[in-house]
Amino acid sequence: MKTLDTDISYLKGVGPKRAEMLNKELSIFTYHDLLHQFPHRYIDKTQFHKIAQLREDSGEVQLRGVLRRLTTAGEGRKKRLVGRLRDDSGMIELVWFSGVHWLEKQLEVGKEYVAYGRINSFRGKISMPHPEMEEVKPEKLKKASSFAPVYPSTEKLNTKGLDARTRRRIMAALFEKLSPADFPENLPAYIIKKFRFPSRYDALRQIHFPKNEQELQAARNRLKFEELFFLQLRLLQIRRRRDAIKGFPFEQVGDTFMRFYNEKLPFELTGAQKRVLKEIRRDLGRGVQMNRLLQGDVGSGKTIVGLMSMLIAIDNGFQACLMAPTEILAQQHYNSISEYLEGMGLQVGFLSGSVKGKKRKALLQALEAGELHILIGTHALLEPPVIFKNLGLAITDEQHRFGVAQRAKLWKKSKPFPPHVLVMTATPIPRTLAMTLYGDLDVSVIDELPPGRKEIKTVHKTENNRMRVIGFMRQEIAKGRQVYVVYPLIEESEKLDLQSLQDGYEALQREFPLPDYQISVVHGRMKPADKDFEMQRFLERKTQIMVATTVIEVGVNVPNASVMVIENTERFGLSQLHQLRGRVGRGAEQSYCILMSSFKLSNESKERINTMVRTNNGFDIAEADLRLRGPGNIEGTQQSGILNFRLADLARDGRILQTAREVAARVLDDDPGLEREQHHPIRWYLEKHGRQLKGWSRIS
Ligand code: ADP
Ligand code: MG
Repeated sequence: MKTLDTDISYLKGVGPKRAEMLNKELSIFTYHDLLHQFPHRYIDKTQFHKIAQLREDSGEVQLRGVLRRLTTAGEGRKKRLVGRLRDDSGMIELVWFSGVHWLEKQLEVGKEYVAYGRINSFRGKISMPHPEMEEVKPEKLKKASSFAPVYPSTEKLNTKGLDARTRRRIMAALFEKLSPADFPENLPAYIIKKFRFPSRYDALRQIHFPKNEQELQAARNRLKFEELFFLQLRLLQIRRRRDAIKGFPFEQVGDTFMRFYNEKLPFELTGAQKRVLKEIRRDLGRGVQMNRLLQGDVGSGKTIVGLMSMLIAIDNGFQACLMAPTEILAQQHYNSISEYLEGMGLQVGFLSGSVKGKKRKALLQALEAGELHILIGTHALLEPPVIFKNLGLAITDEQHRFGVAQRAKLWKKSKPFPPHVLVMTATPIPRTLAMTLYGDLDVSVIDELPPGRKEIKTVHKTENNRMRVIGFMRQEIAKGRQVYVVYPLIEESEKLDLQSLQDGYEALQREFPLPDYQISVVHGRMKPADKDFEMQRFLERKTQIMVATTVIEVGVNVPNASVMVIENTERFGLSQLHQLRGRVGRGAEQSYCILMSSFKLSNESKERINTMVRTNNGFDIAEADLRLRGPGNIEGTQQSGILNFRLADLARDGRILQTAREVAARVLDDDPGLEREQHHPIRWYLEKHGRQLKGWSRIS
């Protein structure tokens, strides 16, 4: 059992110096670490390139030919060894800058070699520096019919003598030293049997030195499963352990909730909203802290679900709060919730960084005294001076990020139990991502839009259609509708971006002149008060066009707006585009989204735009986004180490993930403490390597 814990410096070919480099550069300390640093690709040792067909971008290749010449050039430290290799198609120069003396003795002109290395080109002349040389012996060639692993490396490792070749040799030495008995199983026999997985030893050997494609696939399958299985097992364990965290039992749904439902609710809830509310109610009543993620497409009506959950808290004698990522959005929530609750005798407060002085003081006092029922605001709510009398439920809206730090701050806000937490996402998250990123939370999904919504019509237009787009805007405005025109703004090119917004604004003013038309402008550089003023004018229909940067992206609700024109569409991400489009289609009118872009587009941009034109479904869009960009780039996931898988790919391995989660759940259902003998391998492995699994700090 101990062998895999052995320090790598004891391995042949490693030694203290290389060991230190592996520690530092790749965090490899033990045999186990080394084994789990998987090749990122393989060289097919059965394939040889023809010298005549080499090009400057051929990369790493394997050649087979006769060594024709071998001479040294230069003096002292600049001394190098130059050889020529010839095959039946041509000749290439081979150069070595180190180990010259030794190589001179090893290599023999006239003999046949396999040369392996990376093609270099200097002034149009192709050569191969530092090739790996192996003499061709007929019996050896047969044996060498396999893939050679290539490991992720760093510049430093490469220049300090830990290049691909050495790494491969070290791995080979490792496997020579180890036998199957050194690889204790970490999966129960019944699981291995059920999925026909190779043993742990075989899987690890085969992923480093596969004999063929099938072996490689089998090894990858098992190791991906392992990776996902242990993560899911941990997530499920955490989720089950959470069930032991006590929470305020909200046993009753009382007057406030019922009065709102019967007298104030301006529409019938959708089936999905009702179902989700039931899930939340059940959660809140259990006496266990709720940690629930509420997923729903843009416009699916998450807010009202949040609001009604807060009413349950109030009915049970508690306060509730709602946090939003931007001031504008928080303000809008405050306005609409105050309106919903008018005449209910409830006190709703607003707090953000911009609420100062006397106003702030009075608000904080009322909050602490318990006179406020609901507090709405930005994440300023989490700061220490904000003291609740008895916070029972905290909701964060339009936010993927609600990490450890925020959670910790929140927990300090209520005693003796932490408040119940409901996280509402901005846009849907792909299933695989949700299962991983939020695998420890309970998830509710609103998968139905309120009735009567017309599907937003989305079209793609380029500059030469500009006049027709303007004509269309005029038409819609003539019907009394309002139009958004959105420009991208990213920090790195803020100046340029603001300029193009300014230019666009001026061009629009020419097309839509005063006094017939009024145009609002909102961008991130404006003072909050000016922004609010402009937003307000648009909300009150005093202006017909809102020219804006992405500040309007999140949440803003103007049901009368029916056209969303997005400029430079190619510069937006998919989820951002979907968010933006979600700003229209909120009323009963047919709405439109016009994606403007330049004529020339990268394949990825085309794919994004096509996806937008093809579907309105946020869940489909999220899947496409995941496929296009990979999980690490999906909004809100960047800082989460939990997605740093060694092998698994959430865009492609959804089925393995689903299976791993199901198997993990079944194991825990049968044997929560992993006490049965058949589960000892799992327990042993978790105890040993649990901590190493990335990103667990976020959740535990
Ligand atoms: P999101 O899920 O994007 O946050 P909102 O909560 O802002 O969506 O709701 C979008 C719009 O739909 C709001 O104007 C809201 O009043 C309305 N709405 C929500 N639920 C329903 C419903 N069941 N029937 C009709 N309209 C609804
Ligand atoms: Mg919302």
